[in-house]
Amino acid sequence: MKLKNGQINNDIIGRDFGSALTNMSSDFSYFKKPKSLALGEFFDFHPHQLHLTHPFKSSKVFLGKNNIQRRWLTYDEHSEKLFCSVCLAFSSERNIFIDGFNTWSHVYQRVQEHEIIKSHNLSSEAFLNYSSKKTIDYRLFSEHLHKKKIEVTKNRNILQRVIDVIKLIGKRGLSYRGHRNEGADSLNDSTLDHGNFLDILLLLKKYDVVLSEHIDSITKNASVNHKKGKGKGGGASLIFISKTTVNMVIDSISYLMKKSISDEIRDAVMFSVQLDTTQDISVQDQCSIILRYVNYKGIQERLLAVITVQQSTGKSFSDMFQGVLADNGLDVMKCIGNATDGAANMQGQFNGFSAWLEKSTPNQMELSVCPHMSFALIDLSPFMLFLFLSLQSGRGGNQIALCLMQAINSGHLSFYKRHLTVWSDNCAGQLKNRMLLFLCIWLVANGTFDTIEHTFFISGYSYSASDRDFATIEKRA
Ligand SMILES: [Zn+2]
Repeated sequence: MKLKNGQINNDIIGRDFGSALTNMSSDFSYFKKPKSLALGEFFDFHPHQLHLTHPFKSSKVFLGKNNIQRRWLTYDEHSEKLFCSVCLAFSSERNIFIDGFNTWSHVYQRVQEHEIIKSHNLSSEAFLNYSSKKTIDYRLFSEHLHKKKIEVTKNRNILQRVIDVIKLIGKRGLSYRGHRNEGADSLNDSTLDHGNFLDILLLLKKYDVVLSEHIDSITKNASVNHKKGKGKGGGASLIFISKTTVNMVIDSISYLMKKSISDEIRDAVMFSVQLDTTQDISVQDQCSIILRYVNYKGIQERLLAVITVQQSTGKSFSDMFQGVLADNGLDVMKCIGNATDGAANMQGQFNGFSAWLEKSTPNQMELSVCPHMSFALIDLSPFMLFLFLSLQSGRGGNQIALCLMQAINSGHLSFYKRHLTVWSDNCAGQLKNRMLLFLCIWLVANGTFDTIEHTFFISGYSYSASDRDFATIEKRA
């Protein structure tokens, strides 16, 4: 029988609602939340699905994937709105299908979206619990939910493997992506370099049914779309294995790690901070923020954040650090110490990081170590590292030479060693100067060592904005 608009389609519904419609009393609305006693009558009436071509195509809206009827969807021809019967009956949260949906331009998309939201699924389960009658209607409904559950389990299994691969790559410190060959249409070719992440997945796929099915379906869809001329069969079809998924998983792991660290620090009550900058490959200053605290496991040292430096002033470092603490729910008042290098923007008396931090949290203990001056004496047994505080000792060539002499005369070194190697950076003020050169000549001349080798790191390896500022200040002072 062909039906006109507005008529009830018994073929779709499979049952006659005539009796329900006649029973509808004036004070009872089938499109409002029913009282618990009226649930029976409510679900006898729903779903109320009409055969329509306007304002939407009923065949497209009322039938979901695999032509399974959406029994939750119901239409009120008086208000001309679509409702979700199970959400109306059981949901505690409001949504557009409880208020009535009539924005027809995106109706198909909104219906699909509603089907997967959590509150709707909870309402559907509540409906199944409520229903003890195992009629064909309810079976159809439960079949739909059952299929959804299988799909959710399958997706979780795929994602579990993807997360494990991401964790492995992170643990080994490898790169995730290559330079090219990341498109779905290239995954069939095992001779290509797809980058670490995709290549590990492709290896696992050989031995794992779940991944094998998933990746095969991705490559198949990509080649079909490619033939149809829909896109290039590239990144868009990489469900769960795209760079977007990798980034989301990494962000989630980062969030969980920071949360775990923050929880530990809150339990420890007090903490101190170590803060320093270094340049990345794109010559951008990156500031690492390391927090130290003590808990029942002993002294803990955790990297909490690495942040691109916008301004290398003491105030901006202090603001940045306090921002990081606030983001992680940590109280700046519990910060009892800070350790930085000796640069002016860190330890400056008035505008250094420490000075600004002290304004927010007094009673800071400050430790400044000048990294230019650390050097290791190799080929001396046992190996020893000498470190001194620049604030106490000063930091010129004289002091470095004195430190070296102090190390040699300390009595800790074995003097059967005849060769001294000094590693240091290129700082002319402290290390690449006449004072140290004269000292080395003298040490060889008086027979303390046969040879002395002074090795400098590649110039610029540790240049950061703070170093440059410091140099400028020194020149003008
Ligand atoms: Zn719903």
